[in-house]
Amino acid sequence: MTLAIPFDNSYARMPAGFYTRLAPTPVRAPRLLAFNTALATELGLTDIPDPATLAAIFSGNTLPEGATPLAQVYAGHQFGGFSPQLGDGRAILLGEVTAPDGTRRDIQLKGSGPTPYSRMGDGRAWLGPVLREYVVSEAMHGLGIPTTRALAAVATGEEIAREAMLPGAILTRVAASHIRVGTFQYFFARRDAGALRDLFDHVRARHYPDTDTPEDLLEAVIARQARLVAQWMSVGFIHGVMNTDNTTVSGETIDYGPCAFMDQYHPATVYSSIDRQGRYAFQNQPGIITWNLAQFASCLVPLMPDQDAAVARFTEMIHAVPDRVSAEWLDLYRAKLGLASRREEDERLITDLLALMANDGADFTNTFRALGTPAARDQFTDRAAFDAWAERWLARSEGEADRSGRMSRANPAFIPRNHRIEQMIEAAVAGDMAPFERLMQVLARPYEDQPETEDLTRPPLPGEEVQATFCGT
Ligand code: AMP
Ligand code: MG
Repeated sequence: MTLAIPFDNSYARMPAGFYTRLAPTPVRAPRLLAFNTALATELGLTDIPDPATLAAIFSGNTLPEGATPLAQVYAGHQFGGFSPQLGDGRAILLGEVTAPDGTRRDIQLKGSGPTPYSRMGDGRAWLGPVLREYVVSEAMHGLGIPTTRALAAVATGEEIAREAMLPGAILTRVAASHIRVGTFQYFFARRDAGALRDLFDHVRARHYPDTDTPEDLLEAVIARQARLVAQWMSVGFIHGVMNTDNTTVSGETIDYGPCAFMDQYHPATVYSSIDRQGRYAFQNQPGIITWNLAQFASCLVPLMPDQDAAVARFTEMIHAVPDRVSAEWLDLYRAKLGLASRREEDERLITDLLALMANDGADFTNTFRALGTPAARDQFTDRAAFDAWAERWLARSEGEADRSGRMSRANPAFIPRNHRIEQMIEAAVAGDMAPFERLMQVLARPYEDQPETEDLTRPPLPGEEVQATFCGT
């Protein structure tokens, strides 16, 4: 038995300069670790074969019929410095399927062997980052935030050299597309206006069929990314590597590396071990997305008939991004406080709470989840200050319909906490997938209280804290 995937590969029909065609490098002993049956159903994949067959397909050992494997080329600003050529150094796009809901999705293997874009890398991934991306991307989906998804994780049966010899694995990633701001930058840097036009047409048709001009596209991408980053900010998520090659034009969260959800709230929080300057700290994310969108805007200028006018117009649009993120942010935080109406004083109410939380090291997730119950107060050392704030909040929220319902839909009980992810990985390396399964099950419904999950809502105990996260490349 095999798995029928109804491929229709539009990216493979793009000009040759957009990618390199090549097959995944086979692995020694593929073994299925996880398969996302719910996502498979969403994609319209039925008649799911046995685990060994799935392992052969999602390790790249068996190419499914209709696949046109390729590595995509792109460029990108990494920590502010421009690399004119990056690309899929350890990923292979198998192709695209159109799900029953009409949306086209990429199916990509990550960790599938070297490509012409691997530079010094081995093209592989180890089990830790593969399961981390699986859990965190699916948790993001559970939270209702646009993201790439995880369809499968396969152990390769090979060891790869990192800090130590570690078990290799491959993630199957599903995305609206893998087209990045950096994909546009690649052709912009080469002054290839023809390719930019082809890419523009592809992206417009694929993601923004209602748009017409490059200006419309810029507007649409700004709207999605402003919303996305505000959503991250509303759940305490720190992407960790907001390089332009890790910023999609579809508006999905992509490339989960040294990302993290905050435990204790502090706006300057950084987990990533490679982010030594704190460029991608929690509070910097709105500014960084503005900067990344400015790079995107630059790439669209050559497509405009009057380039001077385009620069003036795009500059205005980019200057407005911070306010757009703030507006989204305000609405999301209003919902976290149970507020449906909009009032001028709300921003102050929200930032005052956040300031108290930062001062007292309150747990971000648990504080919001507990607001309105006595447990909220326990998060604060300066209880008088919190009580005074809570009085203002009560006065403000008086008469708001469905306050507690709105709050429980905006304040998750469960996030993928770093220490639980580390414990899950440790167990998986030892052959125990039970913690992974449990996280997946609970994080699929993060806004619902669930029995016997007290340990998953608890912040790390002393000694359990994760000080730094690694990209695992
Ligand atoms: P990232 O910022 O982690 O998304 O990756 C930056 C670039 O490094 C991308 O072009 C990746 O394909 C590439 N890369 C990361 N890890 C590896 C690896 N193990 N082998 C080859 N290329 C890699
Ligand atoms: Mg990347």
